[in-house]
Amino acid sequence: MKKPPIIHPFLFGLYFVLFLYSINLFEVELVNVLSAAIAVVGFAGVVMLIPLMLKRGVGKTALMLSVFFLVFFSYGHLYLYIYEIDIFGLTLFRHRFLLPIFVLVLASAGFAIVRSKKDLINLNKIFNATAVFLIVLPLASIGMGFAGDLVSGRDEQDARIRAAGGLENGGRVSDRPDIYYLIFDEFASLRQIKQTYDYDNSAFAQKLNQKGFHVTSGSRTSYLESAWSISAALNMRHLQDNTDVKNKIHYSNVVDILKSRGYKYIHFGSVSSYTAKSPRADININFSYMNDFALNLLKSSMLHYFVHISFNFTQDLVLNTLDALVEMSKTKMPEPKFVFAHILCPHGPFVFGPSGEAVPFKDAMNRVDKSVYLGQYIYTSSRIDQLVTDILANSAKPPAIILQSDHGVRFAADEYAQNIFSAYYLPTECASSLPKSINPVDNFRIIFNCLFGTTYELLGDRDAKARPLHSD
Ligand SMILES: [Zn+2]
Repeated sequence: MKKPPIIHPFLFGLYFVLFLYSINLFEVELVNVLSAAIAVVGFAGVVMLIPLMLKRGVGKTALMLSVFFLVFFSYGHLYLYIYEIDIFGLTLFRHRFLLPIFVLVLASAGFAIVRSKKDLINLNKIFNATAVFLIVLPLASIGMGFAGDLVSGRDEQDARIRAAGGLENGGRVSDRPDIYYLIFDEFASLRQIKQTYDYDNSAFAQKLNQKGFHVTSGSRTSYLESAWSISAALNMRHLQDNTDVKNKIHYSNVVDILKSRGYKYIHFGSVSSYTAKSPRADININFSYMNDFALNLLKSSMLHYFVHISFNFTQDLVLNTLDALVEMSKTKMPEPKFVFAHILCPHGPFVFGPSGEAVPFKDAMNRVDKSVYLGQYIYTSSRIDQLVTDILANSAKPPAIILQSDHGVRFAADEYAQNIFSAYYLPTECASSLPKSINPVDNFRIIFNCLFGTTYELLGDRDAKARPLHSD
């Protein structure tokens, strides 16, 4: 019988990369998808080289490799799907149970293939056909996504927002303080941390008040996804269902207006693609070791459990970013600065205890025990307090600062996920008239009205379209 070409291991490997891409289409960088695809195909190529050179066992190696990809990369998806199921109060599906089962499945399949006396040509043909069928699915979904009518360009509303913030419309030109927009991802509102975590953080708000911050009491975001919340804030408007949120973060109204007023844009990136790096920034600073696509691909695999800690990922990223923000506040520039930072903390993984001590490895993703998130939240509060103290002390002229969470704790399964923490440091003449509750779309409407004498009206959550809750 004629031997079929061995293509299935390459296609199965690629399938998982394309699948992940298809479900995060507009939130990842294409270059990160390509490098992941090259890594997976390259790995398969290296493995297949061995039997090809030995001129034996090509079919069996290909089958084992395909089974390996199927089991290895479906682990994380399955784990996320079933880990919250509990039977009679027992959460069965922990890594300590699931991981050995997967290893056993892999070992048995490998053993069966190696020991098989049968000609495996037909099985290779079936694998080829299955792989071709499977890979069509994410490809079709990607194609349809791109064919969709995506709003990525600037529409009339954006043109109006930009024009209203431009120098020709904006009162004052000389008074341009540095502006900091500091986003602490998933930092609970005072209400949520009190109601759901039974922790009173009003002393933290008090300290900010004493420094001159206006801490809002009832602010809510209209969006539960980080990219949506941040995109709306940076564009001073609500978004449509088909908005290309990543593009709108990269080319935002706020940055355009500030650049037209002579600001330098300093962007502190996170691991998330949409805020990793800004094409419009004058200075990009990012301490991530790997991009979020690679990280998510590893998280979807049998390495799920080991990913975060093995890279000391969050710890280093957060601590280095905070240090660099303080350094930036000391840096003198001829132009005023717009400093943007997206800090994925207290967002998981949980790596800081309440005093900044390391969290046990087993709790890195523990969303069940409330003390784990709370510990990281308490540490983040103290670091924010120190950070703004340093920024205020280092600034030659009083800056404007927005401290904000993009959304509350979403996994708490309470009614407060849309409540956010937000605090504003503005010149005193505006600070006294700030409302109790501010939707993030109005952040820069308020700031520009205050600093530049523009006349933006406040939107609140009017025109906001609810978005379904998504994982990140
Ligand atoms: Zn977020």
